[in-house]
Amino acid sequence: MRLGFHCSVGKGLENTVKEALRLRCETVQIFSRSPRSWARREFDIEEVKKFRAAIAYHNISPLVVHMLYLPNLASCDENLRAKSIAVLIDELKRCKILGARYLVVHPGRYASGDFETGIAGIINGITLSLKKVKNEVMILLENLAGGKTDIGKNFQELRRIIDCVKDNSRIGVCLDTCHLYAGGYDISGEGFNAVINKFDSEIGLSNLRLFHLNDSAEVLGSGRDRHAHIGTGYIGLEGFASIVNHKIAKKIPGILETPRSEHVADLDMDIKNITKLRDLII
Ligand SMILES: [Zn+2]
Ligand SMILES: [Zn+2]
Repeated sequence: MRLGFHCSVGKGLENTVKEALRLRCETVQIFSRSPRSWARREFDIEEVKKFRAAIAYHNISPLVVHMLYLPNLASCDENLRAKSIAVLIDELKRCKILGARYLVVHPGRYASGDFETGIAGIINGITLSLKKVKNEVMILLENLAGGKTDIGKNFQELRRIIDCVKDNSRIGVCLDTCHLYAGGYDISGEGFNAVINKFDSEIGLSNLRLFHLNDSAEVLGSGRDRHAHIGTGYIGLEGFASIVNHKIAKKIPGILETPRSEHVADLDMDIKNITKLRDLII
């Protein structure tokens, strides 16, 4: 299984590559911009050129971009929804410039609205964005932890979005292990085998493109999104052993988003986490 981390872009793309190499990443996830601000700057094309060359040289693949946190395609606030679609369109273009294969997107939360309007908003927003931006970047819907108004917390909801998006060759799924567990899918022990079979029958394995490998600091079905270091949460080492040794692990890369103070790479802890996973591979 190809493993990597979410790496920071805050100090420039050159540093992103250095961080990825220090953490021994074979794949990398980044933000294309600050995740907590609507504002963004244009890319420096020379910087991007060097970044792409370094990523290729070090055989870091796939490159994944995670969408920023502010957009919400399921919002009942028309203004926010329109802004969210504009960002999704922009991010699809920025992925192409960076050479990213996947754009990970949180489906959305309906908040003060209702589920049906929310899910329709997600489907329409994604359909429109894929129509506007014709490139090979694929949107990956990430399963959410199952907070009260989260959409995409179970396989049926993800399936419904994929089925309804017009150009569904450019949409897939990123499964976050912590969110799976929080959403009530028991992947501790040998539970992963049954869960992935369920995924196959409800969504289809060909739609699975990426894992986020995080342990869960909260109990099964908590609906709460609290990541833990590998092997220290409720999923546990046995749970991760079932994942990294499953036959699909050869094809599906895994990105770690284990806890960090202030989201700064914590070299010792990060290396411990990725080494634990590599050691589990038989
Ligand atoms: Zn995410
Ligand atoms: Zn999470």
